Amino acid sequence: MNVADSEVVGGILCANGYALTRDIAEADVVLVNTCAIRENAEQRIYGRLGLFSTYKRRYPGMLVGVLGCMAERLRSNLLEDGLVDIVVGPDEYRKLPGLMERAFTGERGVAVRLSRVENYDDLTPARADGVCAWLSVMRGCDKFCTFCVVPFTRGRERSRSLESIVAEVRDLAVRGLREITLLGQNVNSFRDGHYDFADLMRNVAAVDRSMRIRFTTSHPQDMSERLIEAIAEEVNICKYVHLPVQSGSDRILGLMNRTYSVDHYRRLMHRIRKAIPGVAISTDIISGFPSESVSDHRMTVDLIRELRFDGAFTFKYSPREGTKAWEMEDNVPEEEKGRRVWEITELQHAIALEQNTELIGTAVRVLVEGQSKKSRYEYTGRTDTNRSVVFPHSDEQPGEFADIRIDRTNSATLFGIRVGDVIRAASQSLGGTAA
Ligand code: SAH
Ligand code: SF4
Repeated sequence: MNVADSEVVGGILCANGYALTRDIAEADVVLVNTCAIRENAEQRIYGRLGLFSTYKRRYPGMLVGVLGCMAERLRSNLLEDGLVDIVVGPDEYRKLPGLMERAFTGERGVAVRLSRVENYDDLTPARADGVCAWLSVMRGCDKFCTFCVVPFTRGRERSRSLESIVAEVRDLAVRGLREITLLGQNVNSFRDGHYDFADLMRNVAAVDRSMRIRFTTSHPQDMSERLIEAIAEEVNICKYVHLPVQSGSDRILGLMNRTYSVDHYRRLMHRIRKAIPGVAISTDIISGFPSESVSDHRMTVDLIRELRFDGAFTFKYSPREGTKAWEMEDNVPEEEKGRRVWEITELQHAIALEQNTELIGTAVRVLVEGQSKKSRYEYTGRTDTNRSVVFPHSDEQPGEFADIRIDRTNSATLFGIRVGDVIRAASQSLGGTAA
C-alpha cells in the first residue's frame, strides 16, 4: 500500500516540475513513506532518518520529509530533533509541493488532517514500466480491531470510483503491465453506488484477459459469496486469497474485536476451497496478544495444522498507543512471543515444504518477472497461486508466461526448467498447474 501511495506522491511531484532520482547525492528532497503498524517498523524509520542526517550535513539545503502513517501518528513531534523538515499524513499529499516550496525557504511544515473523501481518484501515479502494478481501490479502515493503528492513521473508509479504476487498469494494460493487485485494508468494503468489490473485480478482469488480477486483503467477517464466485469464474483472477485469521482462539478473537469465530473462518475456508479448485489461501497471525495463554497459542497451532495454509505471516504482538489493546496489559514476555512465532513459522514451513514437494514433476505456469535475486542466469516468476518459481534463463522476457517443470523445492521457492514455448500474446488459459 505504501508503494502505491509513494507512486501517487511521485505523480503529484512530477506534475509540479520535480523528477525522481534513485541517487541520494542528486536529491534536493528525500521523502520516506512510513508504516506504523508495529513498533519495529517505526524503529527502522528512525534508523533511516539517522542515515539521512549524515547526507543533510554533506548536502546543505537538502530537505527530509516523513510521509504516511508514522507522520500521522507522531505529527509535529517528528520535527523536534531537527532531522525532519516536512511531515505529511496519508490524506494530505496534495499539499506536498506547497510545503516543499516553503521548506526550501526554511519554514518547516506539518499537514496531517485526515479526510473522509480524499482518494486521489483523479491523479496519475508515477509508476515505472514493469510487469506488476499495485492499485489502491479504497483507503482507510472502519473495522477497529483492538490491536490495530490503521483506523487512526489512515482514517475512515472511502472508495474510488469503479470507472476511474477501470480506466487506470486500461492504461496499464496498454503500457504492457501484466499483473495488477487491487489494494484495500478490507476490500469487501469497496462501494461505488450499487457496485461492490465483486463487480469491480469482474470489470477489471474484463479489461484484458491476458492480464492477471490479484487483490489484498479480505476480512473474514465479510468476504462475500459474490467475490468467491467472481474468483472462481473469471479466468484471469488469480486463484489466491489472503485471509488473515490472527488467532485460533475464540476468546482472543473476541478481545481483538475481529467479529468472527474460528468456526466461521473454518467454514469460509472450506467454501472457498470447494468453489475454487486449486486455490491457495494465506493468512496473518499475531502471537502474544494480551492475555494469550499457552492453551490459546496451542489452538492457533492446531488450527494451522488443520487448515494447512499455503502461507502465513506471523507477527509478535506490538502495543500501539491509542488502540483499545493498548489499555490491556501486554503480559506475554517478548521472549515467549518470539518462541510462539518461531513455533508457528516452523510448522508453516513444514506444511509449505510438503505442499511444494507435491508439485515436483508437474509443470506450473508462471508470469516471468525478471532476474532472480541470486543469479543473473536464473529468472523468477510466480504462479497464479502466488508461489515463487526460479528457473534457468533462456529466451523468456519479463511479462511473458512460461510453463516450468518443477524438479526441486524448499519451503519458499520452487525450482525447475521451462517446458514448451513461452506464451507471449494474450492467453486464454492462465491457470495454475498446467500438467
Ligand atoms: N487490513 C488487513 C491487515 C492489515 S495490517 C486485515 O485486517 O486483514 C497486516 C497485519 O499486521 C495484520 O493482519 C496483523 O496480523 C498485523 N498487525 C496489525 N497490527 C499489529 C500489531 N499491533 N502487532 C502485531 N501485528 C499487527
Ligand atoms: Fe487493522 Fe483490522 Fe482494519 Fe485490518 S481490518 S486494517 S487489522 S483495523
